Amino acid sequence: MSGSRLDPAAEAQKVLDGMGVDSAPIPVERIARSLGAQLRFSPLDDELSGMIFMRDGAPIIGVNAVHHPNRQRFTIAHECGHLVMHHDRLSNVVHVDKQFPVLMRDQRSATGTELMEIQANKFAAALLMPARLFDQEVSSLSFDIDDDAPFEELAKKFKVSRQAVELRIRSLGHWMI
Ligand SMILES: [Zn+2]
Repeated sequence: MSGSRLDPAAEAQKVLDGMGVDSAPIPVERIARSLGAQLRFSPLDDELSGMIFMRDGAPIIGVNAVHHPNRQRFTIAHECGHLVMHHDRLSNVVHVDKQFPVLMRDQRSATGTELMEIQANKFAAALLMPARLFDQEVSSLSFDIDDDAPFEELAKKFKVSRQAVELRIRSLGHWMI
């Protein structure tokens, strides 16, 4: 399941559909638990976002409690992506995530670990900002140069960072400003 042909957005949508989640903000902690994961919040070094590992066959997701709650939500969604898409690669390793530097690079140009991170980020964006819901919200707002309000509104509605909103808008292809 770790190949480059994986479609992270489709995998995220499957999880949402399976749980009947169709409104924002997406209950990402509930989703993680429904995937069988235990969540552990603890203060970590600032450069660490989170981690995932298996203990006695059960996934444990660690989250940096020092980070902004919206960032914690992205971390949880990212680790859920690993759980759903890279389950076979998680045994016997602690997968640690630092900053997410490769954010949305093209999957085709990446290999190995980097590919896993890109896929997990795409999964996280699609899980927290599902295309249909997000499009609805975007089309109900009017965007204007120099006006941050619509971005802030989307970030608040979906409980994600402003940066995540901008990336999502771009990746969904409506960059209308
Ligand atoms: Zn990762």
